[in-house]
Amino acid sequence: MEQPAPVSPAFIATDHNHDHCVSLALQTAEAICRERGQRLTTLRRKVLELVWANHRPVGAYGLLEMLRDESGQVAPATVYRALDFLQEQGLVHRLASLNAFIGCAFPGAAHTGQFLICTSCQELAELDDRQITEALRASADASGFTISHTTVEVLGLCPHCRKGRA
Ligand SMILES: [Zn+2]
Ligand SMILES: [Zn+2]
Ligand SMILES: [Zn+2]
Repeated sequence: MEQPAPVSPAFIATDHNHDHCVSLALQTAEAICRERGQRLTTLRRKVLELVWANHRPVGAYGLLEMLRDESGQVAPATVYRALDFLQEQGLVHRLASLNAFIGCAFPGAAHTGQFLICTSCQELAELDDRQITEALRASADASGFTISHTTVEVLGLCPHCRKGRA
């Protein structure tokens, strides 16, 4: 499969066309699931769309609330299962430090999760920096450690908030 273009390569302009991000994320998810013979059910698709509501991490409880606003009563387990599926397919990442989820900016591509998280506005940018990946692998190797999963969460101020403080 051709690699899809990154949905959000870094912090994007606040006035960008976000509908485009959402439709691209959903289209890419459909293509990935089709190719793997996985079913992007209506609920899984809906949860992914809600995760993509903006570029800020959202907790499972927040997603549940949004779903209930739209479709009435939804069992928490249903949302957790949909999130599990989306994580398995690499369509969303879980941010351990925030216990929240974010849509993957590089779905379908092998990468480690590297995230810049703004502590002021909660905007998040996902990076795919091979140098970080390689440096971690080399350090782990030197320690006799085999990495099975990597998530790098970096807190700070995004360009928009930095400007506001200058
Ligand atoms: Zn967007
Ligand atoms: Zn990703
Ligand atoms: Zn910010």
